[in-house]
Amino acid sequence: MNDETAMRAALLRSSSDAATRVFTTILTRSPISRIDIARETGLSQAAVTKAVSPLVAVGLVDAKLSLSPDGRPGRPAHPVAVIPEAMAMLGVKVTIDELVGVATDLTTRVLASDRMPLEAHDPATVADGIEALCRRLEDRIGEMAGRIVGVGVAVSGDVDTVAGVVREAALMGWSGEEFGRQLSARLPWQVTLENDVRALTIGEHWFGVGVGTGSFAIVTIGRGIGSGLYVNGEVVGGANGVAGEIGHLPLAPRDRICSCGRRGCVEAVAATAAIEETVSRAHGRAVTVDEAVQLAHEGDPAATAAFQEAATLIGTAIASLVNLVGPELVIIGGEAVSNFDLFEQSLRDAFQAHAFGAAAKCRIVTRPHTFEDWARGAAAAAICSLVDSGKATPGWAGSAPPLS
Ligand SMILES: [Zn+2]
Repeated sequence: MNDETAMRAALLRSSSDAATRVFTTILTRSPISRIDIARETGLSQAAVTKAVSPLVAVGLVDAKLSLSPDGRPGRPAHPVAVIPEAMAMLGVKVTIDELVGVATDLTTRVLASDRMPLEAHDPATVADGIEALCRRLEDRIGEMAGRIVGVGVAVSGDVDTVAGVVREAALMGWSGEEFGRQLSARLPWQVTLENDVRALTIGEHWFGVGVGTGSFAIVTIGRGIGSGLYVNGEVVGGANGVAGEIGHLPLAPRDRICSCGRRGCVEAVAATAAIEETVSRAHGRAVTVDEAVQLAHEGDPAATAAFQEAATLIGTAIASLVNLVGPELVIIGGEAVSNFDLFEQSLRDAFQAHAFGAAAKCRIVTRPHTFEDWARGAAAAAICSLVDSGKATPGWAGSAPPLS
C-alpha cells in the first residue's frame, strides 16, 4: 500500500461516528450536496462541513464540483463526490468448485476479474488459492495495485466476521476454522471474512438495488437457501453472527434430513441436492439438477412435483421472513434463478397464502447474480469493515502470528 493510500485508510479507521456516516453517505450517494448529507445523516451543516474537509484533504472526496467559479469554497447546496480511484479492494467468493475474484475501486466498480479452480477443500489449500488469485488480480490493475486496502472473502455458512472464524460451512466440510487468521498470515492487506449472502446484501445495499430502499431481504436459492436482511439502516448480522437462515427453518416434513444434520429444514427439500435426490429416487437412477430442469420442462411428473414442492417451501419461508421482519422488497438471487419459471407460480402462491395482512404488499423480484457479483459483495464487505470502526480492527487482524 502506498503512503497516500495508507493515509486515507488511517483517516477512515480513526473517523468519529459522525464522520463515518458522512463518508458512507457520500460513498453511496455521490454526487450529493452538503445540505442533503446533513438531511440524510441528521447532522448539522457545520458538522458535515467539518467531516468533509479532511476527506477532501486526503483525496477521498472531490469538492471541486462545489467551488465557486473564482475558486472560493462553494455553497453547501453544491455537490461533493467520492473519488472512486482513491482506493482499490479485492473480493473473493469461495464456491465448492472454484474461487471467483474481482479487483474493484472504492465504489466496487470491477477493474479486473479472475477465477481459479479448487482441487481440494481443506482450509490451507483454499487459503493458498485465495493468495494466488489475489496476487494475479494485483498484477492486473497497474498502479491501482498500490492502492489496495483490503480483501473481502465470502464463504457460505456460519461465519463470525469479528473473530475471523468460519464456525460451520457444511459445503466445505469446515467447522471452527480460524480462516481469517490463515488468510492474514498470507496477505498484506486487511482481511474481512463474511458470510456470502451477507456480503451480497452489503453490496446491494450500498451500490445496487438496495440504494434508497429502507429495508429489503435477499433470498438465494440453489445449492443452499440463504437470506440477507437489511433493516432500519443496517445489514443484520445477528448477535451470534447468525441471522436470516431461512434455509434451516423447520417447515419441511420431519423425515427429510438436512445437510446440517437436522430434520425438516427448508434446504432438506428445496436445495439443489435435495431436488436431485427426489427426482433420482423417482427415476431409479442418478439425475443431475440440469437434467431435472430439462425433465420438468418436458412435463415429467416427478421432476415437476419436486420443483413445485421446493418452490412452495421457499415461498412459505419467505412469507415467514416477511411476517417477522417486514421488508418492502425481497430480491431472489442465487444460481437457481436461471430456472425461476419452474419455481415462480408455486412460490408466489405459497407466499400469498402465508403473508399476513399488509405484509403481502412486499414486492418479490428476481435478480440473476453472477459469481462476480458475489465477489463484488465481498469487496463491499471489505469497504464496510474499513469504514465501520466497530469492525475495522478485528481482534485477530495484525496480531496473528504467521502460520507455518
Ligand atoms: Zn438444516
